[in-house]
Amino acid sequence: MKDSFGRDVEYMRISVTDRCNLRCKYCMPEDLPDIPHPEILRYEEILRVCAAATRLGIRNFRVTGGEPLVRRGCVDFIRKLGELPGVGKLMLTTNGVSLERCVPELVEIGIDSVNISLDALDRENYRMITGYDVFADVYRGIMAALAAGLRVKLNCVAMRGVNEEQLLPIAKLAARHPLDVRFIESMPIGAGKGFDPVTGKEIVALLEKHFPGLEEDRERRGFGPAAYYMHKDLLGRIGVIDAVSHGFCESCNRIRLTSDGLLKTCLYYSETVDLKPILRRGGDDSALEMAIREAVAHKKEKHLFHEDRQEAEGRKMSQIGG
Ligand code: SAM
Ligand code: SF4
Repeated sequence: MKDSFGRDVEYMRISVTDRCNLRCKYCMPEDLPDIPHPEILRYEEILRVCAAATRLGIRNFRVTGGEPLVRRGCVDFIRKLGELPGVGKLMLTTNGVSLERCVPELVEIGIDSVNISLDALDRENYRMITGYDVFADVYRGIMAALAAGLRVKLNCVAMRGVNEEQLLPIAKLAARHPLDVRFIESMPIGAGKGFDPVTGKEIVALLEKHFPGLEEDRERRGFGPAAYYMHKDLLGRIGVIDAVSHGFCESCNRIRLTSDGLLKTCLYYSETVDLKPILRRGGDDSALEMAIREAVAHKKEKHLFHEDRQEAEGRKMSQIGG
């Protein structure tokens, strides 16, 4: 479906929980209060929202969080989501800690791709950034996903003075394995406000030094805003997501559903549409569709990350779903 700026909104990110088994420095401060359990949408309620979205042409879904795999029944939910009529691509974003054991079922479901967060390639730096000594579990999850033939993309948030030395080793994983590596400029949302992003431009300059002849790949890969690069020595692609320094609002194709039922049409603004009253007070499917349509109609033209406005988002990234 089109928004008022003519952009085709075709993709929804669904946060199934705001809880997480890690505490990444740039995402989740220690003091984040959990949303009370009754406020969290039940899986059946989320499926109703997704069914309404597919009828409006929003057919591609990513399950995220918090950490989606810490919510009981998440993989079963993904299966049911994939069975809804009209669903296009089905994707998962995870920190990978509990991924290994889920891989066989994700393969059986036919998930289209799995994004795994990885901000360091050694045990100590990983622990320093995420707060937990679980690098080995995450790495095993990545390898299990690859071995099972899943399409894997690694997400690395690039932060000056924190993981700059890790960027090249992580990029080189795309030379050894058939996976894409994407570098994300850290965004000034929640705990992310305290970090200085390594810009997309700087990352491309670093990559060009080590992969001379690096070339932009203009073929579309997924629903995200990453610019991808290819090189003869790389089995996968390296992507750069420079939301802050460059921005890609003109082609923004997405909306977000938070775990407590808020529909959010732009990462930057705090404005949301609460679907819970419709879901819990007898609203029918047409009321749900109308609410989604209205939210999309009011989707803002662009983020204002460079300005500290009142309407700026106050929630943490783990509450929004990335
Ligand atoms: N727990 C899962 C994970 O880490 O992949 C899914 C949720 S996490 C909020 C989704 C994505 O948002 C991750 O790739 C994470 O690195 C990214 N993210 C979190 N905070 C960020 C920030 N301040 N700037 C940029 N990306 C951020
Ligand atoms: Fe958890 Fe993902 Fe946020 Fe890290 S980035 S704290 S893994 S939600």
